[in-house]
Amino acid sequence: MIVCKFGGSSLSDASQIKQVCSIVLENPERKIMVVSAPGVRKNVIPDRKVTDILLSIIEETDAGRDAIEDRRLIEDRLHGIAKGLGLPDVIATDLSTDINRLASQLDPQNRSTRDALVAMGEVSSAQLIAAYLQMLGHRARYVDPREAGLTLTYQASATVILPETYENLAPLSLTDEIIVFPGFFGVTPEGKTITFSRGGSDITGAILAAAVNARLYENWTDRDSVFAVNPEFIADAVPLGEMSYREMRELAYIGFSIIHHEALEPVMTKDIPIHIKNTNEPSSPGTRIIKERTHIDRIVTGIAAADNFCSVNLRRILINQEVGILSKILTIFAELGINVHHVPTGIDSVSIVIREEQLPLEIELALRQRLDRELGLRQVTVVRQLSIIMLVGEGIRDTVGVMARAMTAMAKEQISVEMVILDYFEISMVFLMRHYERQRAVSALYREFFENGLSLQAN
Ligand code: ASP
Repeated sequence: MIVCKFGGSSLSDASQIKQVCSIVLENPERKIMVVSAPGVRKNVIPDRKVTDILLSIIEETDAGRDAIEDRRLIEDRLHGIAKGLGLPDVIATDLSTDINRLASQLDPQNRSTRDALVAMGEVSSAQLIAAYLQMLGHRARYVDPREAGLTLTYQASATVILPETYENLAPLSLTDEIIVFPGFFGVTPEGKTITFSRGGSDITGAILAAAVNARLYENWTDRDSVFAVNPEFIADAVPLGEMSYREMRELAYIGFSIIHHEALEPVMTKDIPIHIKNTNEPSSPGTRIIKERTHIDRIVTGIAAADNFCSVNLRRILINQEVGILSKILTIFAELGINVHHVPTGIDSVSIVIREEQLPLEIELALRQRLDRELGLRQVTVVRQLSIIMLVGEGIRDTVGVMARAMTAMAKEQISVEMVILDYFEISMVFLMRHYERQRAVSALYREFFENGLSLQAN
């Protein structure tokens, strides 16, 4: 069985939905389809994702306004899709009624009422598609994650999957119909609607693939493949035919947004390959994400970059000999609610790399006070506006001199690197630098590892 997930741009209007359905119908193994909410339309500029409009209804309500404009936009969108698919208007009317009801019951301070409304984007896609497939004479049905038992809960502020989910969803493997399953949300043990973070339909697809022991998890999007560098940074970067789960996870973590980074774990444990494909170019090879690479033709598989990091640098002579000091420092960070990314250490120093948004000035002040009062740490420097660049590749581990090449490539461009962090398993190298150096650094590294003749692995 194949579980196939379609992203919002693949479902943005009736013609895209028809294309998606023809892809599903082409292969009888495609028995479970997971759908996002309708995304941005190519021919409507500017356009908004249905999920964004639903979120804007929440903001408007919170501000004491009635969000009439947004509600009307969604109604028009749903009626337009129903009409384009040749479906009776009543389906769109019923969905709009549900949305208006949830909007009027909304308590912006109550997360489950917010999530129930936001989930309606996915519910709408899935119900319209199920009705369309039925109208064409196919055996298809809408399955609601809340009834099927996709059980989730909040942990800190994150949404986590409860183990019973997999057992609850396993019977779907026996289906002889096409199941149309809305992505992005599930149900709490108390029976409330709960969503993942943005882009979370990828996670739903991965959960289903794992629960039904799918042979393959297809993730259909609007790009031909994953590229070695985000096209925002390098316009015509090489496409990647194959990546390992680990490479994808590392890259997704800081910026490769093609698939949600939490969508890897459910399929990794079952060793189910993911195939990223383009809905509008189904014959192009796409990118396969698998457990072990079958061939490694480059040392570096991808380069990811992200801005808005900062480092908190602490100095004290021989700090590395103080038993337990790291744990005390990190406890203060944790107690202030700061999420730590990397902790490179030296003999006399400890640096803590975090996202800049985690350190507004009042938190910085509180942090400095506590470090001083509780640990006597007074030499504290905060460096803001840093960018992270990450070189990722299974080939890095077995190749001598990758770091030297990376540093030389950047040195030739007079780029000064603030910090280097190596992964113990050696499939990634992280460089921190000032924000204004980021683009030149990405270009230099891309030239070094992808464009010059030495990019192919020698050993
Ligand atoms: N519709 C949701 C979003 O826009 C979830 C998804 O598309 O995966 O984030």
